[in-house]
Amino acid sequence: MKCPFCGYEESKVVDSRPTDENTRIRRRRECISCAKRFTTYEIIEETPIIVVKKDNSRQIFDRNKLRNGLLKACEKRPVPLEVIERAVTEIEFKLQNSLEREVSSMYIGELVMDALREIDDVAYIRFASVYKQFQDLDSFRDELKKIAKK
Ligand SMILES: [Zn+2]
Repeated sequence: MKCPFCGYEESKVVDSRPTDENTRIRRRRECISCAKRFTTYEIIEETPIIVVKKDNSRQIFDRNKLRNGLLKACEKRPVPLEVIERAVTEIEFKLQNSLEREVSSMYIGELVMDALREIDDVAYIRFASVYKQFQDLDSFRDELKKIAKK
């Protein structure tokens, strides 16, 4: 990413967030040479991410599944949908940005825990207590269903 001020080729990212439409990433960059800051908009890459589950089976990463997991954890908590959407986009972005095309479901679980820790304590504890036992997105959703029924 060339600096628009001095043309230097290298810059560091100082801030990175999805745009409102969640289709692009807005990045704030700082030129390593002249230290001036500029903004770039980058398209979210469409290459599918493969999720490797605990039993080594693989499936294509599904944004809706991730969202449902977060929604379940935040059920009956004062968390706006918008906050959940943003967390989902940020997690997806982290996955897209890792150089690996295959990610473990455990890693995704950790990203979800990181996000929930910031969003809502109860949702975090709910997720973490289940997740740590099962370490699998499907199992934790099943478990949350059971808890919800009680
Ligand atoms: Zn520069």
